[in-house]
Amino acid sequence: MNTTVIRNAIGRESDDLTSWTRTTCAYCGVGCGILAQPQQDGSVTIKGDPEHPANFGRLCSKGSALGETVGLSERLLAPQVNGQTVNWDGALDLVAEKFSKTIAEHGPDSVAFYVSGQLLTEDYYVANKLMKGYIGSANIDTNSRLCMASSVAGHKRAFGTDTVPGTYEDIEAADLVVLVGSNLAWCHPVLHQRLLAARQTRGTKIIVIDPRRTASVESADLHLPLAIGSDVALFNHLLSEIDARGMLNQDFLPHVEGLEAALEAARADTLAPTGLDDDLIRQFCDMWIGTERVVTIYSQGVNQSSAGADKVNAILNCHLATGRIGLPGSGPFSVTGQPNAMGGREVGGLANMLACHLDIENADHRDAVQAHWAAPTMAQHQGLKAVDMFEAVYQGKIKALWIIHTNPAVSMPDADRVREAIKRCDFTVVSDITAQTDTARLADVVLPATGWGEKSGTVTNSDRTISRQRAFLPVPGQARPDWVILADVACRMGWKDGFNYSTEAEIFREYAALSGIAKDFGRDFDISGLKTLSDAQYDGIAPLRWPHPQTNPPQTSNGRFFADGQFYHINGKAKMLPLRHRAPAAKQARKYPYYLNTGRLRDQWHTMTRTGLSPRLSSHLAEPFVDIHPQDAKELGIQAADLVRLRSPQGQSILRARITCDVRPGDMFTPIHWTGETAPSACVDTLVAPVVDPVSGQPESKASVVAAQRFEAQWYGFAISCNAVHPQADYWARARTQRGWRLELASSQSPQDWEAEARRLFDLPDACVQRLEDKGRGSARIALYDNGVLLAALFVAREPVAVMRDYLATLPGDQAQDTVLSGRAPQDRPDPGPILCSCFSVGVNTILNAVETQGLMTVEAIGEALQAGTNCGSCRPEIGDLLAKIQLKDAAE
Ligand code: SF4
Repeated sequence: MNTTVIRNAIGRESDDLTSWTRTTCAYCGVGCGILAQPQQDGSVTIKGDPEHPANFGRLCSKGSALGETVGLSERLLAPQVNGQTVNWDGALDLVAEKFSKTIAEHGPDSVAFYVSGQLLTEDYYVANKLMKGYIGSANIDTNSRLCMASSVAGHKRAFGTDTVPGTYEDIEAADLVVLVGSNLAWCHPVLHQRLLAARQTRGTKIIVIDPRRTASVESADLHLPLAIGSDVALFNHLLSEIDARGMLNQDFLPHVEGLEAALEAARADTLAPTGLDDDLIRQFCDMWIGTERVVTIYSQGVNQSSAGADKVNAILNCHLATGRIGLPGSGPFSVTGQPNAMGGREVGGLANMLACHLDIENADHRDAVQAHWAAPTMAQHQGLKAVDMFEAVYQGKIKALWIIHTNPAVSMPDADRVREAIKRCDFTVVSDITAQTDTARLADVVLPATGWGEKSGTVTNSDRTISRQRAFLPVPGQARPDWVILADVACRMGWKDGFNYSTEAEIFREYAALSGIAKDFGRDFDISGLKTLSDAQYDGIAPLRWPHPQTNPPQTSNGRFFADGQFYHINGKAKMLPLRHRAPAAKQARKYPYYLNTGRLRDQWHTMTRTGLSPRLSSHLAEPFVDIHPQDAKELGIQAADLVRLRSPQGQSILRARITCDVRPGDMFTPIHWTGETAPSACVDTLVAPVVDPVSGQPESKASVVAAQRFEAQWYGFAISCNAVHPQADYWARARTQRGWRLELASSQSPQDWEAEARRLFDLPDACVQRLEDKGRGSARIALYDNGVLLAALFVAREPVAVMRDYLATLPGDQAQDTVLSGRAPQDRPDPGPILCSCFSVGVNTILNAVETQGLMTVEAIGEALQAGTNCGSCRPEIGDLLAKIQLKDAAE
């Protein structure tokens, strides 16, 4: 199945929408509605659904490129056991037999499932039911543990249940939006676009609280670059100021308990840990306290911390103290990472919860769920959370492990130990769309699951909107839906009565009915109004925000919770918590003097198993990197484009240096996406300590301590190739291009013969060669051809290679040109430079040229001249930032 480059066509054409399938984006928690239409040539056209309440037709760069990621080139199409293709019966019998035998010999807690926010709710429901109700263990946890478990814990402590109070409309109705630990512009781009559109019409002010100067800062009125991990100190100060300025909401406080203790703790904290100027803090307090309609959005920068739950509660304390919750344009707002992270929270995908926000520690709740499931043996206590789960695997306590749609060998903290744990495990099953992941390569059994485009079910986004994901592509090979695979294994383990489902609608009805029981226990999550949907109604259901009860109207205000002051603790009150600043668990010291922060890029998703298939997305930032402040770089003797070896107590990585004031002195930042498949020495979770928040179990992924030193390479290389290659080098990173691949290389060992090295690297022993070599300077340029067509080229030097990469990347497959070995673009084919606008492939050089020759100095003018930023809009903050830097430079000269 081929895909073509597809543009988001909203607003550019009128279509008959009946031929389009309405579905939901596969990536972030915004949960954008998508219209998908397979074409005769096998490509898929994608556009935003104008009727979906999350995006109203908008899409970001990742969503727009979904059509480029549905090809079959890397798909797993049949079950494999020990690398050999087998039939489904053989694979499923083996899985059922191994799990049954392990449970019989070692008990239910000797097995575990590690699942994913990529699962649909129906898949999650079946996995959870199998583990907690039939196997009788709660050893099922999800990679959402790494993403927002601290928000869940914070919500439960404050509200009595895991409720997101507000809606996306609140972001548009607010007068002030505060982004805490959230690079909304890159990680939730469509929400950011909604925020910017609201700012245009109502003048919304924006504050960004983040140690880094991210793309979100470009459109902010105020940026507080606080020290890593100091959010509690900052929000404690805000709480003290709310009180000191007489701004406690006396009408709302009867609905809240714990105020005095929270205030006492807040007053006892100091601002010193934040490292912020007094003036910045005063401005922040003035704006927050002085604005009635304030929404505080928080994300991984808050959650991924050993004090993550406290950070969440520090924010919630301020909203509760002022009664700014559940009102239009007012409230705290946790935005989730994955497309169904929220669905996983609702359906019991976490090891410490039951389905429908019921508590595993509550015997009445357990009994009710057991009765609903007609389950033989119910888990009696919480299971192991992700980090503890893999440690139990390492120690041999968990002997059979099923990993579904996630890649823990590279995405878990202390990834090398996790990789070793999976290797040691007696029996590991992986269900995924591809076997080409670091984790799948370690599994005994790999099962081909259906992927986005082939799956049918539901997902829930960050503002509690449940949407249908609908299949629009035929199922390839022998792939099967996850719920079918799980239910089949359950049946083979002897539990046919509990798992005899024939459609995902049947699963959804059972789930919706369970939520009605949860409602009777006073829980918030109630979709019992959907328990009698017919299959056809289920198929056609439009996006809806829960609660959706069977009888009474929802007890919410226009979809919001808590405006009435009714919470879910037994006394009906919310709780404010006494909190004190706690520094990150790992302390900077002489051996490890820097804090390493990790995060996401605009155009990549998790471990790139899908976004890495798109050349357009890969052209934005084609290589892993570490951001280093100029002061630190100077002390370390590191120049821009050098390679840097980072060492932590857990492991080491090699990354390209970017010298930038976007990070604070003493901090470094690196993206999370590269793996053993794309850049083996740049798997950054190798560096991250397996330290977790004691309440939420969420790992501290943004405050690892590292040492840094220049990597002394004997040679550096850049290569282009029609075919994928797997180099043998200390450092390499590869990215897909429209014409094949581009690679960065470096090593501490120099080969004797560069032509032989190039032939070996590209596996082209007989290709015609063109070469240019300067042995004295240690540089070589080798181009390999077949019948005059360029197949590959390698450029090496003793220093980082200075060639026009983005131009060269367009050459594989072209007829031979004299310019290849020069590494420079000819006059008539200028090098676009690193791509900023992936929709229209507009590079930095093209924009700089437009600035210089046409004097274009606004994002709008650039858009008009070059189209950049005029489709999905995800690149507009970066274009704005680039223009601002040019203006600053001009002013300084
Ligand atoms: Fe998908 Fe982008 Fe929307 Fe997130 S913001 S759901 S990645 S289109």
